[in-house]
Amino acid sequence: MGVFESVAGAVGGTPLVRLNRVVEGVRARVYVKLEYLNPGGSVKDRAALGMLVAAERAGELRAGGTVVEASSGNTGLGLAGLAAARGYRVVVVVPDRVSAEKKALLRAYGAEVHETPGLRPVGHPEQLRTVALRLTAEIPGAWFAGQYDNPANPAAHRETTGPEIWRQTGGRVTHFVAGVGTGGTITGAGEFLKEASGGAVRVIGADPVTSVYGGGDGRIWYVEAVGHFLHPETAADEWPESYHPEVLDGIERIPDAEAIRILHRVAREEGLLLGGSSGTAIAAALRTARTLGPDDVVVVIAPDSGRAYLSKYYSDEWLGSLGFPLTTVTDEPTIGAV
Ligand code: PMP
Repeated sequence: MGVFESVAGAVGGTPLVRLNRVVEGVRARVYVKLEYLNPGGSVKDRAALGMLVAAERAGELRAGGTVVEASSGNTGLGLAGLAAARGYRVVVVVPDRVSAEKKALLRAYGAEVHETPGLRPVGHPEQLRTVALRLTAEIPGAWFAGQYDNPANPAAHRETTGPEIWRQTGGRVTHFVAGVGTGGTITGAGEFLKEASGGAVRVIGADPVTSVYGGGDGRIWYVEAVGHFLHPETAADEWPESYHPEVLDGIERIPDAEAIRILHRVAREEGLLLGGSSGTAIAAALRTARTLGPDDVVVVIAPDSGRAYLSKYYSDEWLGSLGFPLTTVTDEPTIGAV
């Protein structure tokens, strides 16, 4: 076990856990990388630390400064904890559909939370990033983290997530699956794994079915923190700089109901309580794994824990209000036909 001089040292080094019971029809081994074991509770600790260190080195963030970010929660949380330990003030702009628990968590770290209506198009005055940029301009000594376009985000995964997976599998990983939000995880870890394996590792994105990354029309979906809803005709011109689509070999387009169904099964049959985007990613990993043989090793990123979503994906009331299958009726062994 590591001993660290501050919270930053405890970021990364997360375990892989094999899926054993939700894998009917799968011959490949499927391992989930448990990113909720980061100190801030998600994969975004990695990007948050990478962006903070890069900004300090570049002189963009100085003692007593303010960290501003637009985030659906986890990047804000990662920044809030790491910045608190470094003495910075933190302001996070979140869309109002973010769970109440995540907002309370941000405030618990001392961050200031600004809510916007969310799902506004790029450039709209109420759009998340626009609000964050306005606050950055207004606050003296403020620095905007900008996870969507900050090269330190994918770089953090190139330097930590990718090498960890390579080491943990002894170089035997054949497929890497991750959801795409900013694209930082799949881009950085994917680039590293491709390089390390001489191009052999296949990199598969997991995307909500209506998100534009996988070719959807941008209509609303309910699994938060993954996908993008840019206008489908111009989306490719506006991809975040953290997203390098050329790293991907394919994208699995996952309906919310399929993501939520596997999420419930993974909690009840594997003992892993994960967030909604983990459901999206694991559904994609299982679809991929069903096409593979016994020598294949699939690694899938589980970005955060289900604890922050008890009132959403794990609530019969919430699921019922949106017409999703209830947790009590999700015991069918198959996924996909939802
Ligand atoms: N899932 C969750 C829960 C997240 O917070 C994020 C980050 N927005 C992602 C998935 C996507 O990760 P990335 O931004 O690296 O694409």
